Amino acid sequence: MFVQQRTARVERPLTYAVPDGMTLELGDIVRVPLGPRELYGFAIGSPREAIPAAGTRAVVERVAGPRAFDAHALALARWMAERYCCSLGDALGAVVFAAAIPRVVDRFSVVGPLDPSALGTVPPRLVRLIASDFADGFALEALLRHAEARRAGDRRTLLAAISTLQRAGVLARTRTFVAPRVAEAREKFLTATGTEVRGPRIAALVRLAAEAGGIRRRDALLAGFSHAIVARAIREGALRETTERAQRARSTGAREDQEFTATEEQARAIAEIARSLERGGFAEILLQGVTGSGKTFVYIRAIAETIARGGRAIVLVPEISLTPQTSRRFEGVFGDRVAVVHSGLSERERFDSWHAAARGEIDVIVGARSALFAPLPDVRLIVIDEAHERTYKQDTVPRYDALDVAREKMRLAGGTLVLGSATPPLDAYRRACAGEIAHLRLDRRATDMPLPNVEIVDLAAEFERGNRRIFSARLVEALGLRLERGEKSVLFVNRRGSASFILCRACGAVPECARCSVSLTVHRSEALLRCHLCDAQRPIPNACPACGGGPIREFGIGTERVAEAVSALYPSARIVRMDSDTTTRVGDHARLLDEFGARADVLVGTQMVAKGLDFPTVTLVGVVAADIGLNVPDFRAAERTFDLITQVAGRSGRAIPGEAIVQTYAPEHPAITFAARHDYDGFALAELAQRRELGYPPYAELIYLGTIGRSRAAVEAAAAKYAELLTTLTGIEVLGPAPYPIARVNDEWRYRIAVKAPDAAEARRFVRETLVPIAANDRDVRLAVNVDP
Ligand SMILES: [Zn+2]
Ligand SMILES: [Zn+2]
Repeated sequence: MFVQQRTARVERPLTYAVPDGMTLELGDIVRVPLGPRELYGFAIGSPREAIPAAGTRAVVERVAGPRAFDAHALALARWMAERYCCSLGDALGAVVFAAAIPRVVDRFSVVGPLDPSALGTVPPRLVRLIASDFADGFALEALLRHAEARRAGDRRTLLAAISTLQRAGVLARTRTFVAPRVAEAREKFLTATGTEVRGPRIAALVRLAAEAGGIRRRDALLAGFSHAIVARAIREGALRETTERAQRARSTGAREDQEFTATEEQARAIAEIARSLERGGFAEILLQGVTGSGKTFVYIRAIAETIARGGRAIVLVPEISLTPQTSRRFEGVFGDRVAVVHSGLSERERFDSWHAAARGEIDVIVGARSALFAPLPDVRLIVIDEAHERTYKQDTVPRYDALDVAREKMRLAGGTLVLGSATPPLDAYRRACAGEIAHLRLDRRATDMPLPNVEIVDLAAEFERGNRRIFSARLVEALGLRLERGEKSVLFVNRRGSASFILCRACGAVPECARCSVSLTVHRSEALLRCHLCDAQRPIPNACPACGGGPIREFGIGTERVAEAVSALYPSARIVRMDSDTTTRVGDHARLLDEFGARADVLVGTQMVAKGLDFPTVTLVGVVAADIGLNVPDFRAAERTFDLITQVAGRSGRAIPGEAIVQTYAPEHPAITFAARHDYDGFALAELAQRRELGYPPYAELIYLGTIGRSRAAVEAAAAKYAELLTTLTGIEVLGPAPYPIARVNDEWRYRIAVKAPDAAEARRFVRETLVPIAANDRDVRLAVNVDP
């Protein structure tokens, strides 16, 4: 039996004997010995030669529970390992649901004298802590989490100290394995009792429960009701809480089907997808639809067509907590045959959804990128909504792109992949124009409302006229008009905080993070300077710390400052601010949106407001600083800026005619001028021509090789060595090494090599087979491989 280690540095699978009486199949999780230790791995197949070599060790145990993957998923993991230059173990780590794997729990007991003076390198603080609080024995993680232990040293120091204590005969270790519990899923359910309650929040919750004929507690939280509100409703007798066998949703029948009739464009798109399903075999379809054109309706019908033919479907959405309305629509139609998997669920609840999928109890999974790996049988359709979103690219190992993995999954299964977007990824658009994949378009809004008129305001000209404020005269006037008419406005600024940095007017110093090479962002409301990379923080100084007293000034804008500026202009305006500082808990997003819908005038937010926001009375969208994303050193900067402006502007005028005002220092930039004309095709063709000229994706493959470590010299030297080794390959272009745009993060230096090639298959193989093994032996510098960044 071959066993692949999980998260292994060892690339090759290891061979183990299967003891008599144990039956194993592919995808089982097993415990095996390796050297002096035991660890978990995945059974990935039997060797052809049945007789193991002498000395082959045996599998210790098969972990109870369903197997972690099947042959299809293994094939997909192999493809991912090759494509993204990671080990098969790492790829399987993404495919297999983490909660299915047993945890290793180390417990220690004190068996020798705890005398700090006799224990050399062990921090005395740690020894004293063990003697006082942990003398009766402890779980390793509990000790590591203890605040006092953390003061004694970082994790690495503490682990070294523990093993010193073990060797000195002071501590003894026992290792236990905690297997995941598989039980029938049960969950908390809230039903309205008919008792009256007072207070708008609590009444809204009770109404929601009454209208839906009862709701799951977690859905109430996701909808923005706090634990406290739920508890109060139960205490006051307005809601009854019961624990029931898990129901993914209450089926409400195919209500959506009766309420809506397809537009001509929608009907054509649905028919085309149905034909593809009918034909069978792999197909890819780009569904290009302007904001508000009713793509979700097409998805729902396409899924119904899939189920009617005995297949199942996966729907990927960028971030479910941002689009609760969308997931509710799926539940409304498919009832308890759909599982919505989102970040608000506990690990346990997600595990339950996985089991329900494996047992064939559901037909549709809606979730973020990892939903691709749900063990749903007979998947014939994968829909990727908002396919241009970068959240589909995972930024930790394995650094996969869900669009590519979904394509490969449908290729293996002979199914249909639908990519939906108002601003399609350029690669898909290029292939659609070339006729390589089907191209369906929804050019009209489902409500037949025109797209909002977009006006560009040149901030440089505004500045010349003497306006130094963050709002142009035009935007101030437009805001005032909305407040007068009782209509709503959305102001978008792609940065949180109040100012982007402070600068000393005497010496020019800008306070930077001590651990990262970025300036600290000003957060006025907390009176803090914060690092947006490592979250380090310190008070805002009154005078320059560098020269000892120069006057300081704030530069740049963020959501906080925009909200303040609106208040200063229109003191009676009711403002809601939405960014990652105000949406830290599950449900915050929905709560703020409800607040905006019910009683606020202006919503100020980051890119969060670009998604899933559908308020009929929003008639003004202001993009306060369109340039923030344009000046980042990334070949996708223009594409992202175009996407964002298009998405944000699309929030305006959904039911009554609206407008958008885009403030910029670059009024001639194609990303801005094309967005203002709602001309995706014009932008895409211009951008593609430029990418082709510069040899960037989608006309070439790109691989970033990052070297990361504490010593700048070592990181630079390693990057130079890898770049040198790469010169042995032909047909590729090697750029760098050069420091990352942000050269230091969290006290680590980062250098980067870019590899460009029309076909990078050979380069990927070289990275996987030559560079990764070299890097695995380097103790000081890590290699981070990012394919298709
Ligand atoms: Zn100074
Ligand atoms: Zn930092």
